[in-house]
Amino acid sequence: MKIAIDGPAASGKGTVARQLADHYGLAYLDTGSLYRSVGAMILAEGGDPNELAVAVDAAKRIDPQNTDQLNIRSREAGIAASIVAAIPQVRGELMRYQRRFALQGAVLDGRDIGTIVLPDADAKLYVVASLETRAKRRAAELRARGENVTDDEMAAELQRRDDRDSNRQASPLLQAQDADLLDTSDLDIETAFRHAIALIEHRLRKNARA
Ligand code: C5P
Repeated sequence: MKIAIDGPAASGKGTVARQLADHYGLAYLDTGSLYRSVGAMILAEGGDPNELAVAVDAAKRIDPQNTDQLNIRSREAGIAASIVAAIPQVRGELMRYQRRFALQGAVLDGRDIGTIVLPDADAKLYVVASLETRAKRRAAELRARGENVTDDEMAAELQRRDDRDSNRQASPLLQAQDADLLDTSDLDIETAFRHAIALIEHRLRKNARA
């Protein structure tokens, strides 16, 4: 079984995706970590993520199975990730690994999983939350890691990233036609998970009848 989870930054998609993978006994891939690795590698080497050749070369060199080696969770890596993610050749390099990973049966989360990477997924969720909620969540996460950031700064940063991810030509952030919408703005983690399971079970029953 393949499950596709998409949505903007800090919408809660990663938490939901991880829990779903546990629940169904599937492998899990955070595809954002691949783009973050490319961004973090370029920054670590003093390069410019806006430069096509630099970005494509880094995408060829990252180890997708070992993305924890670089400081991929930093704000800078997130920003660099969304810059390199707009480059079609970078997306092409990372696509092969994502599709191969999914063959074993998996939950993948990202921006274009339901639309481009796994259009034939058995179930798809599009996870959203208000900008305010997402900014609060992400700022708290970063402060816990020692970064100095306010909720307002985070909201402005997420808004810029949303705009870049949604308005790019190559695989923009988009709800697939057959994806179910899950808004986690007012839900705690447990409730969001229960809603996710209900939507997926409903979808699987519908597929079985078709
Ligand atoms: O999900 P996360 O916020 O870690 O992703 C970092 C960046 O990587 C996103 O802002 C987006 O630009 C890019 N990304 C993407 N396609 C994916 C996953 C992430 O373009 N499937």
